[in-house]
Amino acid sequence: MAGPALALGLRRRGFAVTVVERAPSLRTGGYKVDVRGAGVTALKHLGVYERARAVDVGMKQITYVRRDGRPIAALPADLLMGRRGDDIEVLRGDLSEILYAETAADVEYVFGDAIASLHDGPDGVDVTFERGAARRFDYVVGADGLHSATRKLAGLQSGFGWRAGRSEGFGDVPPEHLGAYISIFSVPNHLRIDREEIMFFRPGRLVFAYAMGPHRPAQVGMVFASALLGHDRRDVAAQKALIKDAFAGMGWEADRFLASLDAAGDFYFDSLAQVGLPRWSSGRVGLLGDAAHCPSPASGQGTSLALVGAHVLGQHLGEPGGLEEYERLMRPYVDKNMAIGKKMAKDMVPGGRLAITFRSYGMRTLKYHPRKEQVIHKILAPMYEAANAIAI
Ligand SMILES: Cc1cc2nc3c(=O)[nH]c(=O)nc-3n(C[C@H](O)[C@H](O)[C@H](O)COP(=O)(O)OP(=O)(O)OC[C@H]3O[C@@H](n4cnc5c(N)ncnc54)[C@H](O)[C@@H]3O)c2cc1C
Repeated sequence: MAGPALALGLRRRGFAVTVVERAPSLRTGGYKVDVRGAGVTALKHLGVYERARAVDVGMKQITYVRRDGRPIAALPADLLMGRRGDDIEVLRGDLSEILYAETAADVEYVFGDAIASLHDGPDGVDVTFERGAARRFDYVVGADGLHSATRKLAGLQSGFGWRAGRSEGFGDVPPEHLGAYISIFSVPNHLRIDREEIMFFRPGRLVFAYAMGPHRPAQVGMVFASALLGHDRRDVAAQKALIKDAFAGMGWEADRFLASLDAAGDFYFDSLAQVGLPRWSSGRVGLLGDAAHCPSPASGQGTSLALVGAHVLGQHLGEPGGLEEYERLMRPYVDKNMAIGKKMAKDMVPGGRLAITFRSYGMRTLKYHPRKEQVIHKILAPMYEAANAIAI
């Protein structure tokens, strides 16, 4: 998200931009993501809002189900999500493709490679790559996600700054694990789900599924509570085994979803985690999106933060003190959304049966509550305040 969005803003200002992506092709996986408040304004400034709105998922209903699939309660999505104004919800892959398509003609994309070393000198940043030839750039922006390698190479997590040849001793501050893991993958839509999100809770586990139509594939999410696991982040087979272990025999459609896991080409697995750094740039090297400030998928704000950051950085990069100004403008907004993300991660997976009963009871009674709109409005108010906590 963040890389192509920044490329879009910079290209308009006349920069020659190179985007380096480790994966062999564009990563179009993922569930539906919200773009709210300032995120919407950023999309408008970037000139792709209308295209994004055209692929809004158009969610109609959210349904909680029992082990045997019988509904516990169903509520209209508009009510429960409390969407406002021009806010949209799109498949992450669709938005990713829009940003890529908008930039592909005059931005250089290098797939299947990654930065191996950075050397910030007076005339630019000298970069070596794992595969390609060494090059020099005026600026390097790490938009490489939660586990950013650029962050580690630049040693920005130390807060003491970084200069050529002095990266040793800064250490690698890992993301803060928020007590759960999330996986997203697509499956055949055997349930014929049509713009409905179906959710099934067990103690410490959550399965959800969504599809944009009865003949479109379904996206499945599986979240389980766990202490930090020492697994290899590059070992997809091991991650799939973890998901199978956690969800086999859980009930509802979990086993059928798991049967499609090995065939899923868009498997995503990561910890619910946050990244908080004392600073986002040093010299000519900066960080953007999750690499700088991942609020965790539980926040529902990661995409908006990445888009707003891309827009703000796209306006300031290249100006004297531009990277510092980008951080000064973004910090209060990011801090508010990080706080929301931490709270939501705690609530995402119910701890025990009592919590599930309480949640189901809330869904059932809300349907008949005479002031249900106001109740939802109040619950979501802090999220909306955070989503709009920057003027751009
Ligand atoms: C496949 C996928 C599915 C996702 N699904 C969801 C979801 O369902 N719900 C949700 O809330 N969030 C999801 N996320 C995270 C979400 O996209 C981000 O939180 C948010 O959009 C911020 O975007 P970002 O560009 O900063 O990071 P990301 O979207 O994570 O993008 C980072 C990119 O950098 C690439 N990369 C990583 N390391 C390197 C490296 N060393 N060199 C070069 N490139 C590198 C990655 O392959 C990726 O394409 C997903 C991310 C990915 C990659």
